[in-house]
Amino acid sequence: MNTQHPAERILLGPGPSPVPARVLRALGAPTLGHLDPQYIAIMDETCAMLRQVFQTQNALTFPVSGTGMAGMECLAVNLIEPGDEVIVCVNGVFGGRMADVMERCGATVHLVEAPWGEVITPDQIAGALDRFPKSKLVGIVHAETSTGAHQPLEGLADLVHAKGALLLVDAVTSLGGHELRMDDWGIDAIYSGTQKCLSCPPGLAPVSFGPRALEVMDARKTKPQSWYLDVSMLRKYYLGGGGGRVYHHTAPINMTYALHEALTIVLEEGLDVRIQRHAKMHQRLRAGLDEMGIRYIPVRSLHSLNCIGIPDGADDAGTRKRLLEEYGIEIGAGLGVMAGKAWRIGLMGHGATLRNVDLVLTALREVLK
Ligand SMILES: *Cc1c(COP(=O)(O)O)cnc(C)c1O
Repeated sequence: MNTQHPAERILLGPGPSPVPARVLRALGAPTLGHLDPQYIAIMDETCAMLRQVFQTQNALTFPVSGTGMAGMECLAVNLIEPGDEVIVCVNGVFGGRMADVMERCGATVHLVEAPWGEVITPDQIAGALDRFPKSKLVGIVHAETSTGAHQPLEGLADLVHAKGALLLVDAVTSLGGHELRMDDWGIDAIYSGTQKCLSCPPGLAPVSFGPRALEVMDARKTKPQSWYLDVSMLRKYYLGGGGGRVYHHTAPINMTYALHEALTIVLEEGLDVRIQRHAKMHQRLRAGLDEMGIRYIPVRSLHSLNCIGIPDGADDAGTRKRLLEEYGIEIGAGLGVMAGKAWRIGLMGHGATLRNVDLVLTALREVLK
């Protein structure tokens, strides 16, 4: 193993996704101080671009230091106080994690469940809100990366807001790859990650909080149990205000450069064009797999993540090993109950190209011969 020069893989798994050279070059720019006016300007532009990709006007939109899971924790610890009731939708690994994280915040978690590969229906959520009317929020995963299921979100906010609750969304695998309209869809709090459809290395978790979420945070009786992720302190650095920028923790400077460049690329391509590209590449992959007799597991598949059944008689680990060693292609194994039953082919961001789709189809055909 050469530990000095990492190989150039073609990352077609559940993340990280391939990173454009422009983004890697941005990572290597000179490190500024985190209170340097030039860095503050870069951070401000990054937050403005995040608002564009989340399609929100929310001032409180910024990248949390940490990966997608830090975004999940950030929303949970700031919105939940011990003793609160919450509703969490679980149809795969990440919904399950959300329930676990919220329980650790001291919440009583009511689960709304669907079989793996399926999505949660509005009726299920309405039913849970009727049974548990004191629920403070409903948490749901837009793109369940463990099963490839694409959860519809439009219309859910009306149900949730009618009961005075907040709608909280995991958009880790959808941001920059699927239609996602935070404000139009009434989402109150959202988190994502950099290494999926934004095609930036892992390390930051973009989050956004809307006015309802701000009210809930401002009305807290207790401090969030996490000092590091306490938004009431973080906002004094990210948003400044009367007291100027206040040091909380040292922002991951070079990762911010990378995210700034990755978001620039997203907006240069155009959000809608990019989303259409993900749809087209998914359709092309699907048609090729169909010809090979390979079936999709979820009924409503994501474009960014294709979860497929392992063909009868195929060697799960052996096939993935050959793809990696002979073609340099990484695809994902099945996760949770899908382990040994599914493969996950990610077509995210910079990875969602005609070249990659045709390459992975050709490689799979050869290896499965
Ligand atoms: C990848 C992912 C996460 C976790 O993100 P990390 O960057 O691995 O911490 C959370 N939710 C979903 C849906 C994901 O796909």
